[in-house]
Amino acid sequence: MSSVVQVEYVGDLAPYDAEEAALAKAGATLTVVRAPDADALVAAARDADVVWLEWTPHLTRDVLARLPRLGLGVRWGVGYDQFDVAAATELGIAIANAPSYCTEDVAEHAMALILALTRQVVLRDRQGQQGLWRHGPVPQRRLAGSTVGVVGLGRIGGRVARLAAAFGAEVLGYDPVAPAADPAVRRVDLPELLRAADVVTVHVPLTDATRHLFDAEALALLQPHAVLVNTSRGAVVSQDALVEALDAGRIAGAALDVFEREPLPADNPLRGRDNVVLTPHEGANSPQALHDLRREVCAATVEWLRTGWTGAIVNPEVRPHARGLAGVR
Ligand code: NAD
Repeated sequence: MSSVVQVEYVGDLAPYDAEEAALAKAGATLTVVRAPDADALVAAARDADVVWLEWTPHLTRDVLARLPRLGLGVRWGVGYDQFDVAAATELGIAIANAPSYCTEDVAEHAMALILALTRQVVLRDRQGQQGLWRHGPVPQRRLAGSTVGVVGLGRIGGRVARLAAAFGAEVLGYDPVAPAADPAVRRVDLPELLRAADVVTVHVPLTDATRHLFDAEALALLQPHAVLVNTSRGAVVSQDALVEALDAGRIAGAALDVFEREPLPADNPLRGRDNVVLTPHEGANSPQALHDLRREVCAATVEWLRTGWTGAIVNPEVRPHARGLAGVR
């Protein structure tokens, strides 16, 4: 029998009846663990052919090197920055994700955050709840006719671009890799996008190249009335630089679903601001997304167990020296 180890985060994916049944048909068992740290993960997954990782502990080079049987690591999600992919590739370990389960959800969430800022929905709700009537000249913007800059034009960013265009916005896009396929998006370089946009929405993966892509220098290019929306990964935006820009009034607001430190600490300086909307990493959340997430993770694993490969692998360069399944290496 092959062994799949599920490393849980908060335990809200249990029970795993469907996964156990699907894995059994592919000749594998499922063991569910909670691992408070890397040593606990290594102890639990020492004999695993496959590790499913929800969130933590991260599979760093050191952790991967201590999992001699591991052939496939699967992230319960789109982003896979929890894995050291370069180290995995060197070691012959394939890494896979669930690439499309929440494209619509995160795109809709980004639109909700954009509209929350442009229409001041959250602030106006606070006023409404307190009985404040027509209170304060907080500027609301019309999205139709505004310029929305989409940074990262993959699955989610591409969908946001189409939704923003459907609202009547002019859409600028920046992505050094994705092909220019959508006529509704005018491709520009990043500085031009930042200078021109009324709304900037971020949809890039977290990599060495995108960590603090939005630093003080980048944020300084934004117009004072511009707002920033981030539903990708917290560390793509330097929190210190963002707080400074908000404090100085160099940008008008921000809406964030993701944070450099999660959960967001009680004393985080982004809290308690009228011009900042915070959602606690809920952008992917819906029953439909959860259903599709389970299907994608399970299908990729079963395909790999049966054939030694799956299209969800994000480091295809591992293929010539991939470890594959123990016993059939
Ligand atoms: P994707 O792989 O389809 O698209 C990412 C795009 O970013 C690609 O087109 C890539 O070329 C582009 N990119 C890479 N580096 C870039 C750079 N320096 N500048 C501009 N573009 C760059 O991924 P996706 O499905 O669109 O998801 C995007 C990110 O959203 C994920 O990596 C993940 O971290 C995040 N995410 C967050 C949630 C959430 O709950 N908030 C849920 C799903 C995904």
